[in-house]
Amino acid sequence: MGLLDGKIAVVFGVANHRSIGWQIALAFAQQGATLAFAAQERVLPEVQKLAATLGEPAVFPCDVQNDSDVPAVFAALGERYGGVDAVVHSLAFANREDVSGRRFVDTSRAGFLLALDVSAYSLTLIAQAAEPLLAARGGGSIVTMTYMGSERVIPNYNVMGVAKAALECSVRYLANDLGPKGIRVNAISAGPQRTLAARAIAGFPDMEKHVATHAPLRRNVEGQDLGSAALYLCSDLGRNVTGEVLHVDGGYNIIGM
Ligand code: NAD
Repeated sequence: MGLLDGKIAVVFGVANHRSIGWQIALAFAQQGATLAFAAQERVLPEVQKLAATLGEPAVFPCDVQNDSDVPAVFAALGERYGGVDAVVHSLAFANREDVSGRRFVDTSRAGFLLALDVSAYSLTLIAQAAEPLLAARGGGSIVTMTYMGSERVIPNYNVMGVAKAALECSVRYLANDLGPKGIRVNAISAGPQRTLAARAIAGFPDMEKHVATHAPLRRNVEGQDLGSAALYLCSDLGRNVTGEVLHVDGGYNIIGM
């Protein structure tokens, strides 16, 4: 018996096998979920190849900056399955120059809006479109990925930290709005993972080394750790948990010095 037997889960934000979204998809598939993916056009071939290893999951093109893409994904899922049980939001974007060496104070209006639009507003857009499909199944779970740069200053994380703060706050407001329909909304605050998005942040290897030597557990997190945390939040194990930011970072966030 799998924890997600009979459940339909859609994952937004896989680019390749290193993507956190892919690690979560693997954990869900192992526990019996039927998966679907929504991915940017430029990574579609890679996502289709990966998805094929899990059977025949639906793969939809989706750019969260395009107003019609997200509703189209949920319309297609509605036609195919009649509802959805779990939604994974695992995507973010900022201009490289805004996360590589220049000061936060020098962020342009355009760079700020881009980071906040893709990395934070997209969760609300996805929640809007997902609500009727999750409600059709009597409730469900939405999970997003965040990082401690929302709470503390992390070198070079800059505008992405501001976007993650908005994302985490959105989690609380969305959880309050959708809770009466049995829809839970939570975030996982992950320790550093060597993915495409992470490599855009200047000094990323130093972050990894620092966490491995200073976190209480003295190690970096692995993809499987994030898959397990998402499984908890999206299965019955987390049935009374909503509006939370769950740190999965070897305990690094509790350290003051
Ligand atoms: P990744 O590069 O594998 O995934 C990022 C995804 O965002 C890609 O699939 C990309 O296609 C998607 N994306 C970017 N702009 C988009 C748009 N306009 N429309 C649709 N999709 C778009 O990197 P990742 O590290 O797996 O990132 C997933 C999430 O995890 C992000 O929110 C990231 O901030 C968060 N996170 C990552 C780390 C880390 O160290 N890697 C730590 C904490 C949180």
